Amino acid sequence: MELFINTYQQMRKRLKAYGYAMWVLSWDLETETPEGAIDYRSEQIEVLTNEIYALETNKQYLRAIEVLYERRNQLDDLLKREIIKVEKEMRLIKKMPKDEYIDFQVLLNKSTTIWANARKNDDFESFLPTLEKIIAYVRKVSKYLQTPELKGYDVLLDMYEEGMTTKEYDAFFDQLRTELVPFVLTATSGKKTLSRKLTKNHFPADKQKEFNEYLTKVFAYDMRHAVLKTSAHPFTSGFSSTDVRITTRYIEEAIESAVFSTIHEMGHAIYEQQVDPKLNETRLNGGASMGIHESQSRMYENMIGRSYAFWEVHFDELKRIFSKELKGVTLLDFYQYINRAERSLIRTEADELTYPLHIMVRYEIEKQLISGKLKAKDLPKRWRKLYQEYVGVRPKSDSEGVLQDIHWAGGSFGYFPTYALGSAYAAQIYYAMNKDFNIENAISDNQISKINEWLKQKIHIYGQTKTPKELIMLATKEPFSSKYYIEYLKRKFSN
Ligand SMILES: [Zn+2]
Repeated sequence: MELFINTYQQMRKRLKAYGYAMWVLSWDLETETPEGAIDYRSEQIEVLTNEIYALETNKQYLRAIEVLYERRNQLDDLLKREIIKVEKEMRLIKKMPKDEYIDFQVLLNKSTTIWANARKNDDFESFLPTLEKIIAYVRKVSKYLQTPELKGYDVLLDMYEEGMTTKEYDAFFDQLRTELVPFVLTATSGKKTLSRKLTKNHFPADKQKEFNEYLTKVFAYDMRHAVLKTSAHPFTSGFSSTDVRITTRYIEEAIESAVFSTIHEMGHAIYEQQVDPKLNETRLNGGASMGIHESQSRMYENMIGRSYAFWEVHFDELKRIFSKELKGVTLLDFYQYINRAERSLIRTEADELTYPLHIMVRYEIEKQLISGKLKAKDLPKRWRKLYQEYVGVRPKSDSEGVLQDIHWAGGSFGYFPTYALGSAYAAQIYYAMNKDFNIENAISDNQISKINEWLKQKIHIYGQTKTPKELIMLATKEPFSSKYYIEYLKRKFSN
């Protein structure tokens, strides 16, 4: 037993080192790499990728995992949880024939370019054959990984959010459909007048940058273990609690874009920075799941960052930096502007209120695609119908319809629902935290570190040592319920 533990730990150490090198290279690629270096760089990445594959499929390593998995009940809790996770990740490589596995990876490598071109040219037909192949492979993957408990789409859902199946998601989305859809359609029906100083103005990037740096201090984002850069699409990338980096982008026509993307990514980053450092050397570092991760970013962005209490404290600083641009704009103008809700076509630009309805459309479609009830060729038609029904708008083109997201081109089916789930977790966690101390007071006192500390003790510190369900239970003392989320949205958007 000791021997196998040793082998496992030594290989893990080497894999971590290679992983870190690859991680730095990919961060660099997104933020710094000069265009002329990309080809040469790709050659080195290919060598490293092969080295990593060789390590991951090393016979002694696989044998060690297998033996430790068989004897998992003799391991300490931490190693046991880790081996269960690693074994689960290796299952696909073990079960899917090698040729099929490689063909699928090759297809996925090409598919995002095909999708991007199709989106650019508004040409769904050119993406359809690729999408059909991807769906066929994904259905195979779900077959290979099925268990007595999990079949079909449930296998995929569980990959992104352990323990969540169609049974739970159906109940969740049914509630949203009956409670939220009519509410949203009413709330978004009237016309609103917003200050033109906010909607039709120019906000220089260097001033936005200055305010962003101010925000990192407000949120106590630990810059000793962080980096803030720009990239085409904002993201968070962490490797261990010691190094968690974020990006943003400055859109000069929209003052709020960088503000809220930065707060969102800081929510992800603070989570990873606060994971117990002793997990860094294990495979249990980082966030517990997609849904829990998103619950943190969305709580920081929407529930804290878009609250009135927050801007009561920080609007003066924004006005100081944009003294010319925001002349005459009041706190209330700004608050209404950043919380405007409207029917829209694009998920990533949707507001807090309508966002979950965009996800509901995708969930229903995925479920039917994987079960075979819906054929890929009928996607655009179904998409338009569901958007009309749930969001109250109908896309004129597939570019702003079914082709807008990259996920399916990357083979990610079962990922979307975690976005909506994250917001719902956030509302429940917020409610529980508010019982321990008054969150609005903490925001008013500019004490966001108090919120960080509570989340650290209740959620962050555990990394991946607990399942999402266990974490929700620990932090809120009750199982997941969508009622807090629906109540929160209705309260906020009734005003
Ligand atoms: Zn996010």
